[in-house]
Amino acid sequence: MSAELASTAKSVREFDVEKVRSDFPILQQQINGHPLVYLDNAASTQKPNSVIDAISNYYRTINSNVHRGAHHLSDMATEAFEGARQTVSEFLNSPKKEQILWVRGTTEAVNLVAHSWGRHNINAGDKILVSTMEHHSNIVPWQILAEEKGASVVPIPITAKGEIDLHALEGMLDHSVKLVSVNQVSNALGTVNPVADIVQLAKKVGAKSFVDGAQAVAHFPVDLVSLGCDFYAFSAHKLFGPTGIGVLWGKEELLDSMPPYHGGGEMIETCSFACTTYNKLPYKFEAGTPDIAGAIGLAAAIDYVQSFDRAQISQHENTLLSYCHELAAHCDGLSRVGEAENIAGVFSFLLKGAHPSDVGMLLDQQGVAVRTGHHCAQPLMDALNIPGTVRASFSIYNTKEDIDRLFAALDKVKQFL
Ligand code: PLP
Repeated sequence: MSAELASTAKSVREFDVEKVRSDFPILQQQINGHPLVYLDNAASTQKPNSVIDAISNYYRTINSNVHRGAHHLSDMATEAFEGARQTVSEFLNSPKKEQILWVRGTTEAVNLVAHSWGRHNINAGDKILVSTMEHHSNIVPWQILAEEKGASVVPIPITAKGEIDLHALEGMLDHSVKLVSVNQVSNALGTVNPVADIVQLAKKVGAKSFVDGAQAVAHFPVDLVSLGCDFYAFSAHKLFGPTGIGVLWGKEELLDSMPPYHGGGEMIETCSFACTTYNKLPYKFEAGTPDIAGAIGLAAAIDYVQSFDRAQISQHENTLLSYCHELAAHCDGLSRVGEAENIAGVFSFLLKGAHPSDVGMLLDQQGVAVRTGHHCAQPLMDALNIPGTVRASFSIYNTKEDIDRLFAALDKVKQFL
């Protein structure tokens, strides 16, 4: 092994779930008299000490405004903030770090593109295709745009298993389609969508593509070059990072051609009453003082994830999911919702005779945290003809014991029915 390879190998941490758990202080507590079983990771992941420390150290040692260059602290804050952008850029394999834009999260990323790119590229009669399994944040901003422009948002159907119907999509694509926007992983079903293929189909009719990576980045590596999409977004809080910060990535020529989203400080090159000119990428889209601590926290979260062999994380989560499916097959009255071939981190289900919200409440009383309801995917629930589901979602720190606790708690829930 070369010295370089040896040092790379050394820097990868061995995946040991008990050690991983000890990195997350919140997991050590009791809820309602029971050790916490946290299975709501698709809503938000917990934060390791390294992320909490990075944020707190920023405020303790270098808190200052960025890009002002007036003093030492400002230089340090700027270096950490721009270093975080570089970390995200490498994480996504972005050709340039200037293509990484800080936003509040996936929701704001979609709104930015709808507002800036959409307003200038969508016209009356145009179509925006979204899948039936999108989160509301990847539906409503396009609806607002479509209403303003006389365009339409058209749902791509899904199959009975809960996968995007690619055959139907092919039939829907013509030159009136200007954008195809889909999630890489469904938050409600866990389906991993073949986004690279969808991007290629969109390209054939000259449509742009937006990939919502909110549920993907924590589960497997994302390579934007091989994905080939035009826009990509994710939220830090679903990747062990803080809330209130996320990333929009775009192709450079598209971002360059787009007008600003918000106006204010930082996003200008010159400002006068006669004429204001705009800053270069990425600052053109980053008006106002940014979430500096958030960006630094996100970079720490990425460093944390990257300290492991990511294949081992996926393998661990897939083992948990298979174990969960095994126990589900022997659980009377339980029916799975979503049986795609490729699922990441999500187990959605219904319990016969029980409303999902009652199941969630009874699980919580036993220290098991899950999400219930429509998961901000009402059109999907309508298509499936159900009011909602109970969703257990897994992460790096979950164990088989967590799943045993889930099913033991479900057995108790059944006694109430
Ligand atoms: N897209 C998907 C697939 C999601 O799961 C979520 C959040 O649950 C979002 C978008 C919105 O993310 P945020 O609320 O962080 O903006």
